[in-house]
Amino acid sequence: MKEIRIEGGGICGLALGQALAAQKVPVTLLEKGRYPRHRVCGEFLAGITPATLRVLGLQNLFANAPLARTVVWYKGETRIARHTLPGEVPCQSRFVLDSELARRFTAAGGNLQTGQRVNPHEPALEGTVRTLGKASGQSARLGLKAHFQDLVLEEVDLEMHLGKNAYVGLTKVENGYVNVCGLFEQKRGLQAQKDQWLPTYLRASGLHRLADRISNAHIRPGSFCGVSGFSFGLPETEKEKAASSLSLGDCHAMIPPFTGNGMTMAMESAALAFPYLLEYSQGQTDWPQTKRRLAYARDHSFNGRMQRAVWLQKLLQKEVTQNVLCKIAQRNLFPFTLIYRLLH
Ligand SMILES: Cc1cc2nc3c(=O)[nH]c(=O)nc-3n(C[C@H](O)[C@H](O)[C@H](O)COP(=O)(O)OP(=O)(O)OC[C@H]3O[C@@H](n4cnc5c(N)ncnc54)[C@H](O)[C@@H]3O)c2cc1C
Repeated sequence: MKEIRIEGGGICGLALGQALAAQKVPVTLLEKGRYPRHRVCGEFLAGITPATLRVLGLQNLFANAPLARTVVWYKGETRIARHTLPGEVPCQSRFVLDSELARRFTAAGGNLQTGQRVNPHEPALEGTVRTLGKASGQSARLGLKAHFQDLVLEEVDLEMHLGKNAYVGLTKVENGYVNVCGLFEQKRGLQAQKDQWLPTYLRASGLHRLADRISNAHIRPGSFCGVSGFSFGLPETEKEKAASSLSLGDCHAMIPPFTGNGMTMAMESAALAFPYLLEYSQGQTDWPQTKRRLAYARDHSFNGRMQRAVWLQKLLQKEVTQNVLCKIAQRNLFPFTLIYRLLH
């Protein structure tokens, strides 16, 4: 069997690697970091289906994860809506999820090389799949997250808070911790100590009550992290598109986080790629054909959802449209279920 090389050991790379390794494909995975590690993420897997997990051989992956069904939305300090998701959604921290996937990858016979940084600007060799996560670039966005103990969610499984140029999600993860993760507009000149970044940004976004709640809770040691310099949606130029022809997950395109669908898309990308790469490894197709067919399948599966999510995020970020959407939600007229189905 021909070897597959995977660059990047996040959700997509690890899920794909372990599915291939379980079929006796020789897989080498290069990851710059080490496990376990905390990562900026809402840790809420909206839209994940048993069918996707079955293709990857990961049916029991979320057996012990808390499940979310009810959501409450706030704008600033005002509660605007409460709704029920169409199905239960697993919530699992990246601390647990990535290390469990890494464990399963090596248990299946995969060759995991941590502490290995690859150069994303070098052309990829035959048999290489890039799952390096978000492309780094210039952007005014900042993602912050931390886990807290003694932080009680308000009668629901998931809280969503809309602030000024910001939104923040709260979910229950393992061992009674609550994950607080927000997407903010970077504010030059804002000063704070590392453990105060989250409350400082919450206050700067007008979310004072939430800032008070987390200031009164206990932070999980080591869980605070931040990320910046990323953009959402499809690659803009043909050059970028060509360069990412065998990129999967965020490395190809990143869906806005409010959908809670990025990790699901990473898993779906892995499930989509799995049969193509298995055929290549078994010698049934050559590499150019594998790349072409897989890139076509990927674009066909994800581009529509990505464009709808980017469009809706623009509405959520503008003060005027945010106010209109909130008025609709307060009258119980917001089509949450329809929007959910369009985005997952
Ligand atoms: C603020 C925020 C909140 C989010 N909330 C949610 C949510 O609630 N639910 C959800 O489903 N999604 C959420 N997402 C999105 C989600 O985190 C991503 O879509 C998902 O992690 C994509 O998986 P991936 O495998 O493509 O990339 P990643 O999980 O990012 O993995 C990429 C891997 O590549 C490694 N890597 C990077 N560069 C190199 C290099 N040069 N050499 C070697 N290794 C490298 C990284 O260390 C990492 O392990 C959120 C994102 C943000 C920014």
